[in-house]
Amino acid sequence: MTLGEKNIHNYYTESAPAVPRRAALQGEQSFDVAVVGGGIAGCSTALHLAERGYKVALLESRCIGFGASGRSGAQLIFGYACGQHRIEKLAGRDAGRVLWQVTADGLDLVREVVNRHGIDCELSWGQLHVAVKERQRRDLEEECESLARDYGYRSVRFLERPEVESLLATKRYCAALHDANSGHCHPLKYVRGLAGAAERSGATLFESTPVTRIERGPVATLHTPQGRVRAKFVALAGNTYLEGLVRELQRKIMAVGTYIVATEPLGRERAESLIRDNLAVADVNFVLDYFRLSRDHRLLFGGRVSYSGLDPLGTERATRARMLKVFPQLADVRIDYAWGGYVDITVNRAPHFGRLGSNVYFLQGFSGHGMALTGVAGKLVADAIAGQAERFDLFERIPHMDFPGGMALRRPALVLGMLWYRMRDLL
Ligand SMILES: Cc1cc2nc3c(=O)[nH]c(=O)nc-3n(C[C@H](O)[C@H](O)[C@H](O)COP(=O)(O)OP(=O)(O)OC[C@H]3O[C@@H](n4cnc5c(N)ncnc54)[C@H](O)[C@@H]3O)c2cc1C
Repeated sequence: MTLGEKNIHNYYTESAPAVPRRAALQGEQSFDVAVVGGGIAGCSTALHLAERGYKVALLESRCIGFGASGRSGAQLIFGYACGQHRIEKLAGRDAGRVLWQVTADGLDLVREVVNRHGIDCELSWGQLHVAVKERQRRDLEEECESLARDYGYRSVRFLERPEVESLLATKRYCAALHDANSGHCHPLKYVRGLAGAAERSGATLFESTPVTRIERGPVATLHTPQGRVRAKFVALAGNTYLEGLVRELQRKIMAVGTYIVATEPLGRERAESLIRDNLAVADVNFVLDYFRLSRDHRLLFGGRVSYSGLDPLGTERATRARMLKVFPQLADVRIDYAWGGYVDITVNRAPHFGRLGSNVYFLQGFSGHGMALTGVAGKLVADAIAGQAERFDLFERIPHMDFPGGMALRRPALVLGMLWYRMRDLL
């Protein structure tokens, strides 16, 4: 049993209304576009294509939101996992500037789609990136200046320790970057809302429908256990769960485990004494902690990654210990839920979007930073299929290496690499 299967029941599945599962694909059907994967990336792709009038099928092997999208820490944040500086190095300065705008548009798109389709997903705005060390404090201050000066992004504010401590009941952080334009949501309600919007816009969604083989060609054929889809275009949004379906994509990403615990409900007063203004918070370590409150006043605290690919025993205990490092005053509090999921990291932690041949599009490599980017990425695929590929094509300028060591040795190589980053966090 994988980490994915084991953690399907979590705080989000228990706090979202129950939904019936959609039928599996039966027999052969033809569409303009077949989308593989019912996470945010796939649902957003299907929605934006259907809104443009394409005949769309979305094929999901388990259920909508089964993957990272339905388990996420759900912080909707600007930028890329690798940082804007690195994006500009990889793609070039001018392309890098446009790619920055894509991420800012990603946040606007979440707002716009949620409002337009009336998706109740507990959307809330305001987020803090917090510094644990003086070195990180200096980096955040510089980033804050650069965002306003170089990118015209003016919703950010740099906070010194006293202001941070007035917002968070912890002494752990020496500074923060506050962004009024970033935020958080209930990720399972969000992805299910996108799926419903896609369906109402005309897309056909199939659940319990794994795509087991793709025959490429001017009209592609996607094989599933009980049927086939023929389509002029394919959009692959299977993330880490795509596994062996397309081997040239699998070589570029590694599935890395990350874990969240949800406390028992703390009551409004105690919860708001920990985090003011319903902010989402993430530290700037490479192996980071991230946390926020839920609507029913629990603390949702995530952190700790497993690069070994195993589901380590004691994950709940280890994540709780990290939580107590930030909020020691929660020592008496019960953990009601603990779960994990996989993120799809690339070697350079930049996103990996592109085409295979002329009519198979793919989106992967969000590297743990995909809550806002997945939505706009789906829209970019829809735009590209409709003939407006300028922004999508810029992502193809970002070079991506295979993970070193081939399929057998790449995980030990990654574990060693991550140990180095972990040590750097501690310095
Ligand atoms: C615990 C956790 C915390 C996170 N916290 C944050 C955060 O706070 N902020 C942030 O920005 N990002 C965060 N992320 C990352 C973010 O959630 C992901 O980047 C994003 O959800 C990826 O969406 P996706 O649609 O690409 O993939 P997924 O949501 O993984 O969806 C892929 C889907 O494709 C399906 N699929 C795969 N192969 C096939 C096939 N062959 N046939 C049919 N279906 C298939 C899978 O079943 C799955 O449902 C977190 C991730 C995790 C796991």
